[in-house]
Amino acid sequence: MRKKGLLIVISGPSGAGKGTICKRLLESNANIKASVSATTRGPRVGEVEGKNYFFLSKEAFEEMLEQDAFLEYAKVYDNYYGTPKKYVIENLDSGNDVLLEIDIAGALQIKEKFKEGVFVFILPPSMEELKKRIVGRGTESEADIIKRYGAAMEEINQVIQYDYAVINDNLDRALEDVEAILKAEGCRVNRVYQDIQSRF
Ligand code: ADP
Ligand code: 5GP
Repeated sequence: MRKKGLLIVISGPSGAGKGTICKRLLESNANIKASVSATTRGPRVGEVEGKNYFFLSKEAFEEMLEQDAFLEYAKVYDNYYGTPKKYVIENLDSGNDVLLEIDIAGALQIKEKFKEGVFVFILPPSMEELKKRIVGRGTESEADIIKRYGAAMEEINQVIQYDYAVINDNLDRALEDVEAILKAEGCRVNRVYQDIQSRF
């Protein structure tokens, strides 16, 4: 019924469970395509080039910037991250939904360009649980854990900039919430109006 795909933007503090929710969402929704970001951060154990990120040197990242190849970019926890433009535009135009898991500064840049995007903020149930999850994930150094946890409260204060907030206490329920949001967004009259007009 819809011609253009949904641009779904997911943000939230480190450890809230964005990656886990996005992975589950992609597994059960073939029409949602994940945008793969470019970053200057090094790969974590198990991360795959071109799947989790495009891992770039600072120089290569700057070259892409010069070529205006990013839809948005931001410095997050001391590294650069950016969304390559081409993949997102091509997929939205061909009717696929596109998922961006990006930080708040990046999401606000997207909001400027795509007012029709769906902006979802993922929250942990508490700060204590957030700390447990960041530490429990075991992927960051102690300095990085402190940096990420230290930024969390300020990030949570930005939830007001988003359309939807989902508290990730129980993973299955949080996923259900995100799926319900997307389902309702897909039925917004402004998204289906053209199709309705062509039918009647
Ligand atoms: P983010 O992408 O937001 O930084 P992750 O998806 O990497 O967060 O999740 C951080 C850690 O918390 C991971 O170890 C993940 O398995 C765990 N986690 C995610 N969601 C839940 C949940 N609902 N309950 C308990 N642990 C969770
Ligand atoms: P991580 O290093 O944990 O993978 O990601 C750190 C932060 O960078 C997270 O908040 C994540 O959402 C954000 N991020 C990942 N890719 C991008 C991107 O392309 N653009 C922006 N602005 N942020 C991103």
